[in-house]
Amino acid sequence: MNNEQLWQAILGEVELNLSRANFTTWFKQTFISSCENDKVIICVPSGFAKTWLEKKYHQEISNAFKNVGQINIKEIIYKVETRKVNPNDKNLKDINTNNKEDETPNKPFILNRFGLNTHYTFNNFIVGKNNELAHAACQAVAANPGHAYNPLFIYGDVGLGKTHLLQGIGHELAKRTNKILYVSSEKFTNDYINAVRGGQAKEFKERYRNVDILLIDDIQFMGGKDGTQEEFFHTFNELHQANKQIVISSDRQPKAIPALEKRLSSRLEWGMIVDVSLPDLETRIAILETKCREKNYKMEENILAYIASHVQNNVRELEGALTRLIAFYEFNNTQPTIDATKNVLSGILSSFQTKSTTPKTIIDAVAKFFDINIKELIGASRKKETVLPRQIIMFLMRKEINSSYPSIGQELGGRDHTTAMHAFNKITKEIKEDERLKQTIDSIKQLLYNSCQ
Ligand code: ADP
Ligand code: MG
Repeated sequence: MNNEQLWQAILGEVELNLSRANFTTWFKQTFISSCENDKVIICVPSGFAKTWLEKKYHQEISNAFKNVGQINIKEIIYKVETRKVNPNDKNLKDINTNNKEDETPNKPFILNRFGLNTHYTFNNFIVGKNNELAHAACQAVAANPGHAYNPLFIYGDVGLGKTHLLQGIGHELAKRTNKILYVSSEKFTNDYINAVRGGQAKEFKERYRNVDILLIDDIQFMGGKDGTQEEFFHTFNELHQANKQIVISSDRQPKAIPALEKRLSSRLEWGMIVDVSLPDLETRIAILETKCREKNYKMEENILAYIASHVQNNVRELEGALTRLIAFYEFNNTQPTIDATKNVLSGILSSFQTKSTTPKTIIDAVAKFFDINIKELIGASRKKETVLPRQIIMFLMRKEINSSYPSIGQELGGRDHTTAMHAFNKITKEIKEDERLKQTIDSIKQLLYNSCQ
C-alpha cells in the first residue's frame, strides 16, 4: 500500500465513527506526506484543522492505523501543508458525494437536533435470527412508548447493532415528539458533573426529566460512578412514574454490570430485556447489501459473500471491510474482482481472526466457557461434562482454522483422526437442530475473537 492508499483506508475507517459533516469538514484536503518506520506525517490545510485533529480525532486516527494493520506506528505528526493538484482530494470528494444521504430532502432536519445518526433507522436495519426479538421489542416501543415495555433493555457485544436500534426508536418517535433525548451514559455522567460544578443541577434535572423518551446508550460505563447512578436512579423513577419511555443499551445484562447499585440494576430489569447476538452468514450478506445501497455503490454478490464469510464476529468490522474496499476501488476507479478483494482485505481479515486464532486459543476459550480444567479436556476423561466441550473444540478447530483431522486429534491428547471427524459431523448436524447449542457456540466464538484482539 502506498501513502495514498493507506490514507484512503484510514479515512474509510475514521468515517465510520464521525458524522458526515464532521468528516468532510476536518478531513478534506488531508493526506499523508510521509510514513516511515514508526512515524507518519499527516498534512492538513490549516492550523485550525491541525489543532482539531490533534485534540479531537487523534485517538480515532491512531486506532484507524491499528485497524488497517499498521500496528507499528508510534508517532503521528500533524502538519499544515497543502498541495496543488492531487488525485487523492478528488477521491475524498468522490466518496463524500457518493453518499447523498445528508442531502436527501425528505430526511427531517430534526434528526441532527437529537444527535441521531441518519443511517440508524429501522429501514436500514436488517433483521435476522440474532436480533429479531430485540428488533420487535424496539418496534413495539416505538409504536407504543411508555406502555409496551418500560424500560426496554438491550444488551450484546460491541458492534452488533445496539446503538442502531436505540436510534431507530429515536427516529420513529421524532416523527411525533421533539422531547427525545439520546445520550451515552458517559455524556449523561459528564453533563451531570458539569451541572453540579456549575451550580446548574436544576437545569440538568429539567433537561433530563422533561422528556417523552430517554435513550441511554452503553449504560455499563455508569458502573462505579455513584453520584451519577444516584441521579440516574431518580431520573429513572420520575420518568417511569410518568409513563415516559426509557430505553437502555449495555454490553451485558443488568446484573452483570460491575459496580452498579443493586436498586438500579433491579429497576433495569423491570421491563423487557432482549439481546442481540452474532448475525449468521445470510444476515451478514444482507447487511452488506444495505450498506452498499446506503453508499450508492453496487457490488457483486460473490464479493459480498466473501467479505461476509470472512468477517464474522462484528457488524462494525464488516462495515469497515466494505468501506475499505469501496475506498480502495474508488481510488483505482475499477470494480472489485474476487482476487483483488482478497488482496485488499487480507491485512484486516487476518487481524480480525485467523492470525491470532490457534488450537490453543480455541481450547482456552472452550475451557473458560465451560469452566473446565484444560488438562481434563485434553486428557483421557470420558466424563459426560467433558465430552461435549471436547467435541466443540474439535468442531471449532476444523471450522474456524481449518485444521486437519489428524492434527486436531493430536492437539487433543493424541486422539484418533476419526474421533475428530465424528465430532465435527455430529456438531455440524446438531447445530442446525439445537438452538441452544448454536448459541453456546456463538458465545464461545465471541469469547475467542474478543480474547484474540
Ligand atoms: P453497538 O452499539 O452494538 O456496538 P452499532 O449499533 O454501533 O453497534 O452497530 C455497528 C455498525 O453495524 C453500525 O454501522 C450499524 O449500522 C451496523 N449494524 C449492526 N447491526 C446491523 C443490522 N442488523 N443491520 C444493519 N446494520 C447493522
Ligand atoms: Mg453502541
